[in-house]
Amino acid sequence: MKLLVTGGAGFIGSAVVRLAASRGHRIVNLDALTYAACLGNVASVSDNPLYVFEHADIRDRAALDRIFAAHAPDAVMHLAAESHVDRSIDGPGDFVETNITGTYNLLEAARSHWEAQDRPESFRFHHVSTDEVFGSLPADPAVKFTETTPYDPRSPYSASKAASDHLVRAWQETYGLPVVLSNCSNNYGPYHFPEKLVPVVILNALAGKELPIYGRGENVRDWLYVEDHADALLTVLERGAVGRSYNIGGENERTNLDLVRMICAILDEIRPKPEGSYADQIAFVADRPGHDARYAIDPSRIRQELGWRPSVTVEEGLRRTVQWYLDNEDWWRPLQARDGVGARLGTGRGAAR
Ligand code: NAD
Repeated sequence: MKLLVTGGAGFIGSAVVRLAASRGHRIVNLDALTYAACLGNVASVSDNPLYVFEHADIRDRAALDRIFAAHAPDAVMHLAAESHVDRSIDGPGDFVETNITGTYNLLEAARSHWEAQDRPESFRFHHVSTDEVFGSLPADPAVKFTETTPYDPRSPYSASKAASDHLVRAWQETYGLPVVLSNCSNNYGPYHFPEKLVPVVILNALAGKELPIYGRGENVRDWLYVEDHADALLTVLERGAVGRSYNIGGENERTNLDLVRMICAILDEIRPKPEGSYADQIAFVADRPGHDARYAIDPSRIRQELGWRPSVTVEEGLRRTVQWYLDNEDWWRPLQARDGVGARLGTGRGAAR
């Protein structure tokens, strides 16, 4: 398969690129290289003759047309996005432009390529989205997001992703473009940009800094190891039914506070401090405005229809992740100097852009 991956220099996209390359797929990695990107994420495949990098922006329709014409992909996996909820609170405009207008451009470029090729049934446009489009769940563990949960996005980020999901479905209904969608829970793992909770906690712990927890740390997320997610995405792309969406979860619900305590316990074991526990560095800070209380995925559809399940528990995945950060300071240290990293973002007091 010749796969056009957008956002392949980001966290999840690069895990897809690395896995797809290891399975012998041809890959075109299209990425604008925003603040969140790092070509080091795909350094292990950059010399692979099956791999090509295209530096392009999905807001640039002419660039997309050129790339489709040059590479004639069999499938598109669309991950390029502005992805950080806190940044969406301070500057929602970038999220509207990339996540909505960019997805529209990509759909149109894909449709024009697909129509020029006589509309092959085997073509796929796989849109990668988030469970945040479904809103916030009550504490009752029996209630989870299914593929038919009504959309109820609460943040500029999730609203922009919801809009892009609707566009993708509309392109299938209206033009017949063979699309497939997936909505996943919170990812963590190697190459996670150091502004997201898990790497912030690991790196602040090692630096002797506070471990900031929004509110009381009671918000619940369903933690999905990124390499499991990449495997699920290739499964959905290859075997998912056209027009269908699949929820992808880690089957590992934890409160933020529990998750941070788990990271501290792992560090206490493998990199103990001279005295005390890393958990002593936990600090409760002002909550995110509109912070969704709970996300949880009902994974029945992907499990029953595609036979996919996550391979690691959150304990095992976190252990691998902590070890990876201990072993890869050369990767994360320069990223900490990028714009906004380490600053408190998304308090609702940032200037509108
Ligand atoms: P990321 O921020 O790490 O990477 C995004 C990539 O997209 C970056 O490499 C960036 O350079 C690129 N990009 C941004 N704007 C672009 C543009 N205009 N044109 C071309 N490239 C552009 O994000 P991620 O965490 O890897 O998320 C990937 C996808 O998965 C996103 O669509 C996100 O909404 C979705 N998702 C992520 C999570 C998660 O927990 N990280 C959960 C659910 C869904």
